[in-house]
Amino acid sequence: MSRQRALVTGGAGFLGSHLCDALLGEGWSVVVVDNLLTGRRANLAHLQNESGFEFVEKDICEPFDVGKVDFVFHFASPASPVDYHLHGIPTLKVGSLGTFHALDVAHKYGAKYLVSSTSECYGDPLEHPQKETYWGNVNPIGPRSVYDEAKRFTEAVTMAYRRYHKVDTRIVRIFNTYGPRMQLNDGRVVPNFMKQAMLGEPITVYGDGRQTRSFCYVSDEIDGFMRLAKSAEPLPVNIGNPNEFTILECAQMVLKVTGSKSQIRYEPLPQDDPKQRRPDITKARQLLEWEPKIDLETGLRRSLDYFQQAVSEEASVR
Ligand code: UDP
Repeated sequence: MSRQRALVTGGAGFLGSHLCDALLGEGWSVVVVDNLLTGRRANLAHLQNESGFEFVEKDICEPFDVGKVDFVFHFASPASPVDYHLHGIPTLKVGSLGTFHALDVAHKYGAKYLVSSTSECYGDPLEHPQKETYWGNVNPIGPRSVYDEAKRFTEAVTMAYRRYHKVDTRIVRIFNTYGPRMQLNDGRVVPNFMKQAMLGEPITVYGDGRQTRSFCYVSDEIDGFMRLAKSAEPLPVNIGNPNEFTILECAQMVLKVTGSKSQIRYEPLPQDDPKQRRPDITKARQLLEWEPKIDLETGLRRSLDYFQQAVSEEASVR
């Protein structure tokens, strides 16, 4: 029997590259299409000589065709607040045009399809924790809207291709995820705090640090994606860790695992920064028998070597 072939858009990114590892590990062949706007070749360097792995540098905002595939994993998009502020229009384009093109590939080849969506669809949520049935509280014209509305549109196009073209679609709503291969300078809280702690610089807590996030270690997140890919669930599924921390608690945890003596420095809260975020994962538990296993302290400890190396590499090129 020939190998099943998966397309991973955004496969050079943090989550995309871990997804490639999981797919290859389960015997798939994988073709990545990525324009390297925020993804990095280094994330895929270990797969270069792997049989059944291909990398195509291409912007999916233009129509593309990489030949027959059995599954499309659409993961291309800037995803950190710093990245999508820097690349606002490309973020809107990849969520809209890029999504049409990824769905066109799935439609053409009769492939299954899974798209990465986000807890940002819930905006600054008035329902807590957030269930998949919550429609969200999103500012459509604020600075975060380039990402939030792109992803909400991504979900809308995906559901339309399901309804009108009978594409076999799935939608995962991803909550804050961390681990090796995150970009050191993408501005997200975990890489920022790890870098600052390792360099003995002040830990920059935005606002009063009482806003909350729920952090999922990357291996748990990928396990959730693989289970959803194998299911037939058409409606969005939250995949995230429901253990909620204030950002101040997160800072203290980073100080603990790094053994750093860095001080906390308070800085202004960015506009429309969600005050709270925690997934209700009842659906994933029941449907996928999925449950995150790795708590924040363990996950941060597992990430130490990666961040230490990233910090050293950055220092050596300065
Ligand atoms: N944050 C912070 N200091 C930093 C980076 C982020 O206090 O150096 C806060 C940010 O304001 C937000 C939370 O940490 O409340 C998570 O931010 P991140 O950019 O990681 O992702 P978000 O969940 O906002 O998309």
